[in-house]
Amino acid sequence: MTTRDDVFSELGIGPVWRLREAAPEQPGAAPCTWESLADAVARCTACKLSATRTQGVLGVGDRNADWLIVGEAPGAEEDAQGEPFVGQAGKLLDAMLASIGLARGNNVYITNVVKSRPPGNRNPEPDEIAACMPYLLAQIELVRPKLILALGRVAAQSLLDTDEAIGRLRGGVHRFRNIPLVVTYHPAYLLRSLTDKARAWEDLCLARRTMQSLAPDS
Ligand code: URA
Repeated sequence: MTTRDDVFSELGIGPVWRLREAAPEQPGAAPCTWESLADAVARCTACKLSATRTQGVLGVGDRNADWLIVGEAPGAEEDAQGEPFVGQAGKLLDAMLASIGLARGNNVYITNVVKSRPPGNRNPEPDEIAACMPYLLAQIELVRPKLILALGRVAAQSLLDTDEAIGRLRGGVHRFRNIPLVVTYHPAYLLRSLTDKARAWEDLCLARRTMQSLAPDS
């Protein structure tokens, strides 16, 4: 059976150490660092999106953040600039974060499930999500967030490994490897759906309450 470390090794990024706990060194194993991860994403040809992207978009923000925000995949502007959520959806995401007292880069790290732009802004396909998942897992291990906010169906279903509709996934607190995970609508969808903005606000309040309920150094 292929293990997660086999996948990391195949991608050339080595096993991921737990940075906030003393992890036993394994002889001969190269630790995964942000530098090796960025390099691996920049060189990645694990799926067909590598043929059409301008660049891989790893993520942006505070690498020791309590909050990890996970979107779907880079769009045209993100592909051009190399940073997640810099277009219209990104402006709304910044406003959503501000509404609960957060700002991009300040205790917040933002990334996507898929690091390469799907052509024509189509949804990422299951094989592309699977090929990219080790990078997201590595980011989660490096950041060690206290809470994950999943934006939209692709992020929520990929992280929770479910086909459940987003309407059923939002409204409660899930767990990703014991990290509390809250689901809300994707900002690009909210730009088109005014009615669900109120629900997204409830989700953000749930996320903030959940964070506040956590022990200070949990
Ligand atoms: N939509 C996403 O899911 N991610 C981005 O980075 C931009 C738009």
